[in-house]
Amino acid sequence: MPRNHDRQRLVVVHRTARAGLRLTRRQRRRLSGLLVSAGDVWACVLELNAWRRARQDAPLVSYPALCRELATAGPGCFGELDTVGARSVLRRYSDAWFAAATRRKNGDTSARFPRRRRAMMPARWYQGTFALEGRRLRIPVARGCPPLHIRLDRDLPYQPGQIRSVTLLYDAGRLWADVTAEVPVTIYPPGAEPDPARVAGVDLGIIHPYAVAGADGQALLVSGRAIRAEHHLHLKDTKARRRAVARRAPKPGQHGSRRWRHYRRRQRLVEARHARRIRQAQHEAAAAVISWAVPRRIGTLAVGDPRGVLGIDAGRRHNRRTREWRVGHLISVLRDKAQQAGITIVLADERGTSSTCPACRARVPKPVGRVFCCPRCGQSGHRDLIAAANIAGRLPGGITPAITAADVTHRRAGKHLPGVSAARRDPRRPHHGTARGSPGRHLPAPPTTVGRGVPRLTARTS
Ligand SMILES: [Zn+2]
Repeated sequence: MPRNHDRQRLVVVHRTARAGLRLTRRQRRRLSGLLVSAGDVWACVLELNAWRRARQDAPLVSYPALCRELATAGPGCFGELDTVGARSVLRRYSDAWFAAATRRKNGDTSARFPRRRRAMMPARWYQGTFALEGRRLRIPVARGCPPLHIRLDRDLPYQPGQIRSVTLLYDAGRLWADVTAEVPVTIYPPGAEPDPARVAGVDLGIIHPYAVAGADGQALLVSGRAIRAEHHLHLKDTKARRRAVARRAPKPGQHGSRRWRHYRRRQRLVEARHARRIRQAQHEAAAAVISWAVPRRIGTLAVGDPRGVLGIDAGRRHNRRTREWRVGHLISVLRDKAQQAGITIVLADERGTSSTCPACRARVPKPVGRVFCCPRCGQSGHRDLIAAANIAGRLPGGITPAITAADVTHRRAGKHLPGVSAARRDPRRPHHGTARGSPGRHLPAPPTTVGRGVPRLTARTS
C-alpha cells in the first residue's frame, strides 16, 4: 500500500466504507471478469513459487520482484485487468507472505504461507487511477478495453479529497466496492477537547453491548435487545429451513440436486445479511458511546476485556451465545471510533468487577438479575454500570465513579433491524392476522347465489 506521509501535520486515520453496486448485466459480467483475472494473477504467483520450491530456489515474494515478473509477462495476459489492479494482488500476496513469515519466526507454527487458489480475488486501485464523483465510479481497465463506469448504491461518508483507494470484491453472492479514505482526527475548539484525566469505565455485555460509567456519576446504557432478537430469529429461521430441506440433502459422495444448490445459495445470502445486520448494529452501539463521551470531555475509556475467560467450554447454548457476542468486534469498533474522536482506549482486567461493591470494596455474590445491591453498605445500581465503575477504578490513578440512578442515558443499538418498529416488520416474525397489509388466513369462499336465488356451495367448501 503506498504510504502517504507528511500531509501537513494533521493526524489522520484510515477508514473504509462498503457500498453495494447498481449494475447492468453486462457490467456485472465485466466486473466479475476483473476479479477472476485477479484470481488468475494470484494463481500465477502461487504456481511460480511452487516451481521454485520444487527446484529448491528461494521463493519470489518481494513486491518489486513480483512486479518485475508481471512486467515481463507483458500486456494482455489478464483479460481486462490493468497493471494497477494486478499489482494490488501482488501486494496482497507479498503482505500475506511476510505476515506469515513474521508470525512463524515468533514461534507461531500455525501461521501458513498463502497456498490456496481462489476463483476471485479482490482488486484494489489507488487514488489517481480511478475516478469517483458522487456515486459514479470509473474503474480503470487494460488499454484498448472500453471504459468501465459503474454506480454505487449509496453516498459515502467521506469528502472527495479524502478518498485514497477503491477495492472491488465479491462477498456472499454480491459485488461490493470498499472505499478507503484518510480521515483527520477530530479537532475541538479550545476547552472542549477530551481530557485524558477524565476516565470512564466500559463494561461489555450481551444484553447491554456497552455499559459506560463516567465521572460525576453520569452513565450510559446501550441496549442490545434488538441484536439478540435478530440472533434469535435468525437461528429459528435457519433451523426451520434446515428441517424443511433435510430430506433433499445429498448423501456423502452424491451430487446435490439443483434445488439443493439453490437452497445453499439462499442460505449463504441469508447468513451474509444476518452478519451485516449484526455488524451494523454493533457499529451503531459504538457510535452511541462516542457521541455520549465527547460532550462530557471523556479522554480515556477503560474497557474491561473478557476474552481471557471465553475459551472455557460452557455448554452448547452458552458457547453459541458467547460466539455470537463478537466481543473482539465490539472492542475494535469502539477503538476505531474513539481514535477518530481523539479518545484513548485502555484495556483492563474485568475479572470480578460485577461482584465487587464500588463503594466499600466488599465481595458480593454475583447478582442474578440486573440490579446490584450491596448487603454491607447498601449501595445499589445497575449491575453492568457497577461493573463499568469498577473497571474505571482499575486504571492506574483511576477513581471509581459513584453510580446514581438519576443520570443514566439509555440508547438502543440496531434501530434499523426489522421488527424493532411496526414500520419495519420482519417477515420471519409471525403476525397473527392483525398486522396491516396482511391478507390474513385464507378462508373458504362464501356461498354464491346463482339463478333463482338457490344457494350453491363452491367447489372449495364442498
Ligand atoms: Zn458496599
